[in-house]
Amino acid sequence: MTDNDSIHIVGAGLAGSLLACYFARRGLSVEVWERNSDMRAEDIPAGRSINLALANRGIRALNEVGLAEQVTPLLIPMRGRMLHNRNGELQLQPYGQREHEVIYSVSRTDLNRIMMSAAEATGYVTIHFKRRLDAIDFATGRLSFNDDREQINIRRLIASDGAGSVVRRAMKQLPEFESTEDLLTHSYKELTMPPAPGGGFRIEKNALHIWPRGGHMLIALPNLDGSFTVTLFLPNEGEPGFSSLDTPETIEAFFEEQFADALLHLPDLAEQFFENPTGSLGTVRCWPWCVGGRSLLVGDAAHAIVPFHGQGMNAAFEDCFVLDGCLDSEDNWDAAFDAYQRRRKADADAIADMALENYTEMRDSVRDPRFHLQKQLAFELERRHAGVFVPRYSLVMFHHVPYSEAQRRGEIQKRILGTLTEGIDNLADVDLERADELVLSELTEIEELAENA
Ligand code: FAD
Repeated sequence: MTDNDSIHIVGAGLAGSLLACYFARRGLSVEVWERNSDMRAEDIPAGRSINLALANRGIRALNEVGLAEQVTPLLIPMRGRMLHNRNGELQLQPYGQREHEVIYSVSRTDLNRIMMSAAEATGYVTIHFKRRLDAIDFATGRLSFNDDREQINIRRLIASDGAGSVVRRAMKQLPEFESTEDLLTHSYKELTMPPAPGGGFRIEKNALHIWPRGGHMLIALPNLDGSFTVTLFLPNEGEPGFSSLDTPETIEAFFEEQFADALLHLPDLAEQFFENPTGSLGTVRCWPWCVGGRSLLVGDAAHAIVPFHGQGMNAAFEDCFVLDGCLDSEDNWDAAFDAYQRRRKADADAIADMALENYTEMRDSVRDPRFHLQKQLAFELERRHAGVFVPRYSLVMFHHVPYSEAQRRGEIQKRILGTLTEGIDNLADVDLERADELVLSELTEIEELAENA
């Protein structure tokens, strides 16, 4: 598909920068408008969450435009969840049972910088920094930036301006547009655990650390310099809650009681706690995602989700991959935008639900012996029925089956696991003959080839 006019993208974050690479590969001229200054020239934070978990869906989308070689050196494999009990005991729960079934910690800023530079290096992409989109007139295609000081007319706009998307908010004026923004009553605070005194990591490098405490949790992901980005997820109100952690003493006492082994590695905890912002979390759902062939929402602008499945960025990258496929299969922009939104909507809703569920799993269920038993059984059933019984976590993180299919199969599998473990405490006591019957009668082989391609 060709376009005589430039394609305009608002937001040079994760989705916008990658999408620019995809459009450039088609030989399309791209103008990107970003409200922040250039993070490659100035040391500015790339926004929310210092590092992120990158998984298969994201990797596939990066590989597709040839970014694997540049991105690989940034990645730290995380093989499982390292649970920290209150008494300091550690337990590693592997994410998968095959060597390649790992997820990767990656710096948001480094990744964003690489994608911006790769997009510009094509010669087809110009990124305009310090341009905050304030308004869009869908009828005329007029964009207004920086308090109306600059205006341009465009033919086609892709909105990758994140969870608070100005474009999505402007779409509220259109008839039949529906959207909801559900804020969680929990927020997050990021802290840095510095590298060990002589360099290196203070806690296991190749794991995603979790301190699950029922109603709240602390997590930590490794960075290349030996530090960890530690994130506290906590209710806004109540005890414990962000509102009650308001003095150095209450913060220290809370960490001492809840996360004593982490506190040992957070020498300037209270200082960081007051200095760093408290971030809110929420789920955005809306429909439609496009205004004809004029404008289209991608990434968080269309479907921001809570971060507990580590999939927001992965889903945003998968959007780019799917949209690219739609541009191949359709012969005009209107049809391509429509095909993309219809392909993605159910999947975006599914990962939004699964991400919310995963909060309970991470902060609470992981401590439950029944959860462990079902995890072990799920791995056993996967060994017995490879490609048929695949744990839901693996379907989301290590495969490309549509999220809605992962959710559907996950429900069936959950039922099977529940039935087989009723009144049982040990894997050895599970009736495997019955298990085989249930799996083969309720599940078919996953259609990885039909996937999102
Ligand atoms: P963003 O990355 O938010 O980019 C939006 C861009 O648009 C920014 O550059 C912004 O400056 C720009 N912009 C915004 N408004 C305007 C405007 N008006 N004019 C011009 N420019 C504008 N996802 C994962 O896959 N794995 C994880 O482990 C993970 N962890 C997370 C942890 C936390 C605490 C949070 C909050 C999120 C996490 N996510 C994770 C989700 C991930 O951060 C998002 O899904 C991802 O950033 C979405 O990319 P995006 O490009 O759509 O939006």
